[in-house]
Amino acid sequence: MACSRFPLPLWLRALAALAAAMLSLGTVAQDVPPLTPVQVSAHAWYVLGDAGMASAANKGFNSNAGFVVTRDSVIVIDALGTPPLGDALLAAIRQVSSKPVKRVILTHYHADHFYGLAAFKATGAEVWAHQGGKEYFGSGEAAARLAQRQKDLFPWVDEHTRLIQADGWLDGDTRFEEGGLHFRVTLLGPAHAPEDLVVTVEEDGVVFCGDILFAGRIPFVGNADSKRWLAAIDTLVGLQPRVLVTGHGRHSTDAAADLRLTRDYLLYLREQMGKAVEEMVPFDEAYARTDWRRFSKLPAFEAANRINAYGSYLTLERESLAR
Ligand SMILES: [Zn+2]
Repeated sequence: MACSRFPLPLWLRALAALAAAMLSLGTVAQDVPPLTPVQVSAHAWYVLGDAGMASAANKGFNSNAGFVVTRDSVIVIDALGTPPLGDALLAAIRQVSSKPVKRVILTHYHADHFYGLAAFKATGAEVWAHQGGKEYFGSGEAAARLAQRQKDLFPWVDEHTRLIQADGWLDGDTRFEEGGLHFRVTLLGPAHAPEDLVVTVEEDGVVFCGDILFAGRIPFVGNADSKRWLAAIDTLVGLQPRVLVTGHGRHSTDAAADLRLTRDYLLYLREQMGKAVEEMVPFDEAYARTDWRRFSKLPAFEAANRINAYGSYLTLERESLAR
């Protein structure tokens, strides 16, 4: 064989291996869906993720992230669900603006909203989140979710994926001015998560509301406190946003109508599972006898409804024991 008669020098082989590794890294980095910024107001944009759950089919791109271009810098809201998606989000921002990214504000610490943070940390941006998010790292939930993602979203999430904690933990509502725009950060949690934050850009009437609202799809409820979530929805309606950019699904220009779907679903779960708890009907039986037709055609129903119903059943059991 030619290669044994003329063996490649070691340095050349090392160079070839390096080139191959860079090529494969490049392939993974590029192997994410194209992110197209959608403009919703004079200064605000977002990228729209797939409507279902995070999967290999959508390469983890099942959530939204937003950004606001001020006179001096860019403020980002959420960072998507894998490190390559974080890179792609930064590239999408660069289609619109070359200003530095000053800050990333996380609406909550769920895997599909913060695994892309590394790209922004690398550019020197600071990360803000509500201090309720510390629980996520303290509880073991973060490590368990990472292990699941490394399995289900490989190679986009792998053994090199780092979970990045906030530089600034907020302990309540806050306001700041940046590049001529006024931002309001409002704590709405615990609702969908213990630390839900919403970000309002006052000049534009835009509210980034994270997962308080899942527009046009079944929300992931799990063991969330649906009673408080319903109260958070009312607060959100009270903010009277001109545009609502949600964590999942299209942005809304009619907040009241879109909030109604999430609200009706949560109320229905509570009503049906509450009745079962009251009558001491076992969960499986209660689930089977519930009429789900009103919601069963919506995206993410198959993946999320049973676990949502079970979480609600347990929540209502707790509530009834606490009475
Ligand atoms: Zn979430």
